[in-house]
Amino acid sequence: MKFSKVLIANRGEIAVRVMQTAKAMGYQTVAVYSNADRHARHVQEADEAVYIGASKVSESYLSITKIIDACKKTGADAVHPGYGFLSENTDFAQACIDNQITFIGPTASAIELMGSKRLSKIAMIEAGVPCVPGYEGDRQELEYLATQAEQIGFPLMVKASAGGGGRGMRLVQHLSGLVEALQTARSEAENAFGSGELILEKAVIAPRHVEIQVFGDTHGNYVYLFERDCSIQRRHQKVLEEAPAPNLPEQARADILEACVHACQLMQYRGAGTFEFLFEDGEFFFIEMNTRVQVEHPVTEMVTGVDIIEQQLRIAGGLGLELQQEDIKVQGHAIECRINAEDPTTFLPSPGKIESFYAPGGAGIRLDSHIYPEYSIPPYYDSMIAKLISHGKDRETSIARMRQALDEMILTGIKTNIPLHKDLILQDKSFCSQAMDIHYLEKHLLKQVEEKKAETA
Ligand code: ADP
Repeated sequence: MKFSKVLIANRGEIAVRVMQTAKAMGYQTVAVYSNADRHARHVQEADEAVYIGASKVSESYLSITKIIDACKKTGADAVHPGYGFLSENTDFAQACIDNQITFIGPTASAIELMGSKRLSKIAMIEAGVPCVPGYEGDRQELEYLATQAEQIGFPLMVKASAGGGGRGMRLVQHLSGLVEALQTARSEAENAFGSGELILEKAVIAPRHVEIQVFGDTHGNYVYLFERDCSIQRRHQKVLEEAPAPNLPEQARADILEACVHACQLMQYRGAGTFEFLFEDGEFFFIEMNTRVQVEHPVTEMVTGVDIIEQQLRIAGGLGLELQQEDIKVQGHAIECRINAEDPTTFLPSPGKIESFYAPGGAGIRLDSHIYPEYSIPPYYDSMIAKLISHGKDRETSIARMRQALDEMILTGIKTNIPLHKDLILQDKSFCSQAMDIHYLEKHLLKQVEEKKAETA
């Protein structure tokens, strides 16, 4: 084996999730933790744990020096970055290489390429992957961008090339709002991402978000693990995901899966990756590629039976993919509900102490989480505290099992978005009978507010 001790440069549910597989494969595991995470589950689960600093992410989970030092201190010879934090940071991947530590992910150059919405789009166009029409050139003067925008037409999306996590995006409805949108997008991008580079895209009016899971190894094997539908979003953030994507035309689906694998071959892509697309009227449009494990990876694991973390570790260790394309089949349907510590009506974070917690179970139910009774959710990090996943022979069964599991789950002491899943989305006839577009949840929430107002009037 190329490495024997894996440091997980992350926290929360994903740190626990990665550790479970790493331990089952016989690796030693190392956790890192901030001040706020002294009593966190990932620290208890790991074979060793290293304190890396204050609760603020810049002082701990985002500090490349501290993570590399923790590797040196414990003799960890590999790092799994999880998602978020340093998972798509080129400098971190390079620092690992420079210190003879295996980075469990793609090459630093692949991360860099895909971290730029502009350059990744150019690479995809060259690879024959369909993209949203727009401007992704290197001329960046605002006047030039304005002329390009007029050619593309409205509504239009202005995006920070280095943006991510649903931030750095602006919808421009009419020509009259263009100049101001470009100016603010530029300065916001400079402040938030350290680069003012912008791309322009035609706004796709009512698409679905469909993404393809892929893998490449160092032995020339490239496979797809089919698709996920992540259209249930609020403020461009995913709330509920499912696999497979309901009602995709078979030919369009087959073509896009092939196009993604072909692009991986051209790039000699290594590790797990996700191609994200907007899907409208039978057509796919590439928006970006993520070069890490996704939050929503469990729905793919449930329908394919493949442990995505295991394949990541195998590839990084030089063992190669265990899978041939013809062995990978989709069985049944899976849904994931992201459980956030937040107020279900205002969506404001609701950190604090969990009083009671009971995890649901039974056939086809999985819970990925790091919480336990009396655990205090710190206010410094993402509000997602659990992912509830259901699997069944078809979508209807998966929905029914999810409803039952949400009813069974007990989580008190903090506010959560469980009512949003239970009473709003999973009770809605439209959602239960068909695939919805990316605006569905926000429209549905608005409708509910209006209905309540009408009731009280
Ligand atoms: P980020 O990197 O910040 O996640 P993405 O480019 O992946 O940004 O887009 C996130 C979400 O924004 C998509 O899932 C979709 O809801 C919306 N979106 C992005 N590009 C467009 C577009 N051209 N037209 C309409 N909606 C878009």
